[in-house]
Amino acid sequence: MEKESLALQESMENTFGNSVFNDAATKARLPKHIYKMLRKTIEEGLPLDPAAADIVANGMKDWAIEKGATHFTHWFQPMNGITAEKHDSFISPTSDGRVIMEFSGKELTKGEPDASSFPSGGLRATFEARGYTAWDCTSPAFIKDNTLCIPTAFCSYTGEALDKKTPLLRSMEAISKQAVRILRLLGNTKVTHVTTTVGPEQEYFIIDKNLYAKRLDLMLTGRTLFGAKPPKGQELEDHYFGNLKDRIAKFMAELDKQLWKLGVLAKTKHNEVAPAQHELASIFSTANIATDHNQLVMETMKKIANRLDLVCLLHEKPFAGVNGSGKHNNWSMCTNDGQNLLEPGKTPHENEQFLIFLAAIIQAVDEYAEILRVSSANPGNDHRLGANEAPPAIISIFLGEQLTDILEQIEKGKAKSSKNGGELKLGVITLPDLPKDSTDRNRTSPFAFTGNKFEFRMVGSSASIAEPNTALNTIVAETLSRIADRLENAKDIDTEAQNIVTEIVKKHKRIIFNGNNYCEDWVKEAEKRGLPNIKSMVAAIPALISNKSIAVFEKHGVLNKAELHSRYEIFLEAYVKTINIEALTMLDMAKRQILPASVEYAGKTASYLSSLKAVSANSVTAEKLILELTSTIDLFGKNIETLETALARNGNSDDVLKRAEYYRDVVFKSMDALRTSGDKLEMLVDAKIWPLPTYADLLFRV
Ligand code: ADP
Ligand code: MG
Repeated sequence: MEKESLALQESMENTFGNSVFNDAATKARLPKHIYKMLRKTIEEGLPLDPAAADIVANGMKDWAIEKGATHFTHWFQPMNGITAEKHDSFISPTSDGRVIMEFSGKELTKGEPDASSFPSGGLRATFEARGYTAWDCTSPAFIKDNTLCIPTAFCSYTGEALDKKTPLLRSMEAISKQAVRILRLLGNTKVTHVTTTVGPEQEYFIIDKNLYAKRLDLMLTGRTLFGAKPPKGQELEDHYFGNLKDRIAKFMAELDKQLWKLGVLAKTKHNEVAPAQHELASIFSTANIATDHNQLVMETMKKIANRLDLVCLLHEKPFAGVNGSGKHNNWSMCTNDGQNLLEPGKTPHENEQFLIFLAAIIQAVDEYAEILRVSSANPGNDHRLGANEAPPAIISIFLGEQLTDILEQIEKGKAKSSKNGGELKLGVITLPDLPKDSTDRNRTSPFAFTGNKFEFRMVGSSASIAEPNTALNTIVAETLSRIADRLENAKDIDTEAQNIVTEIVKKHKRIIFNGNNYCEDWVKEAEKRGLPNIKSMVAAIPALISNKSIAVFEKHGVLNKAELHSRYEIFLEAYVKTINIEALTMLDMAKRQILPASVEYAGKTASYLSSLKAVSANSVTAEKLILELTSTIDLFGKNIETLETALARNGNSDDVLKRAEYYRDVVFKSMDALRTSGDKLEMLVDAKIWPLPTYADLLFRV
């Protein structure tokens, strides 16, 4: 038995990172001096010598071929939110008509995909199709489906970012620079680099593939556009952490196996609140790797599900009236000598360094709430943010009792003590008393301190985490830089540090809220405090191109004005296109499925009634039913026409913001009305005739 479990452990340890050209593989495959050069490049951001690049490429290729790879691809993350890859094989013809397997340093470090079909928001005219991908050696290459995938950044001919990774890398540099300045001023002479660490928790739904295939809305838009509430939802609270159904357990096991091979530290898995909803958390890594890995997690989830005749839905709100899915972005900063800068220690009130970083974050989140808000905006998240089960659209910070108490002391003068959690008495002699955490959980806060990190909970489940982390890094780099400026000019650093923290607490304490963010009172309270409540993606996006936003992104070299404008265009266009596809899908289902089925059933009921009349009998029930059916069918028909008219007028404005507003205010509203009448028909029509799998089918039939 022991032997067996040892073998299992060994095989696990061998699988992990098996498909990754990680540090160990690099070391094993490259000559020592080349390995050292590469490490220097990775750690200090120095350029890699082209001759060395050839040797790295060759080592990588040999490793990949041994693992069965035949192709390589520059793997990148364009603005459409998914990953892109164009596969090239390693083969190269020789003069005598044979082929050899080749991979050069140039092929490793630079690619030139035809970029004209990726969104650029006007940065790149279509005739100037050239785009470049550049090797990001800080994220290791890996093998997926017999292809060596090389993580890359994607930019235009003139160097503007066309992807999500470039600004993320730039923002990581920016925050590192400012954090190191502060640490130096506080007397730390050793630290040279600070990385942002991120651990994302990913929520998702799993449903049956056969049922999925019967729903055009799920197939084309990822969410149900019709569907009446099932008799049972999540009200019994019997799903969260519940035991796993066989098919789900199998899915999760397969998923773990694949992810471990890819070096993704998938750790925690459990059922979520809604039926058919689950979560996967990976152990944190650098923001850059975490972002790449989260893309791989989403992709692998879809693939594995498909293999098991299941479908993984990553949409933020696949089912109206049922909890949606988000992504909890756990975020912190770590020095190159391993210090977590958000670790408060036992006596945070004396921890000057911690308090400075905390203050910088508080100021950043308050001053730049709009930037954080837009970083988590996508069409799907519009159904979540501000709705009952997800963090509201208002940004605030949860700090918990201990830190709030310390900040209150600071505001009044000087912090003299830290309240500690103490022991948590379980009251059963055989159970150990647990040391109580100094912060309780607040699951309703969009930005919560959870002991040694902040958890940004607004991010949508389908979104890349590149943008929220780019935003966080940039705004915190800004407030850190202002603090560093002041400390640099101070006569006495400690006194100045205290002054700064006190000032920030006084000025920005309005952003701190430890109560229930879901309750209506908070909306009123937040308004009184002057906190922005930005309810939709379309309303959030203009913040990208405000002077304030351009100033902060440009100052830290993360995004320039042109790049921000391009993103503004891309996001608004994406919104319009998404809603347009949803509206067209709805019309298709309404006219070709729901209406015919409803008319058929009305006809059946009518002929039943007339056959009764033929023998001078009557049925009150049938009469009532037919009246209700015909009036609902008429209403449904009218709503179809309204949506068609709305689409025909489609806000043909040259101004993309106006078009997006039109889609939100007119098209989206008409879709809502059509849905309500469609769902009413579902409750009237014979289940045998109803053409769509119902919510009960979708949510409970795995
Ligand atoms: P929860 O109760 O919210 O699930 P966990 O302690 O399990 O909290 O952590 C959730 C996520 O936070 C995990 O992905 C974990 O790796 C990540 N995490 C922990 N420490 C850090 C850190 N210092 N920086 C970033 N993420 C972190
Ligand atoms: Mg969490």
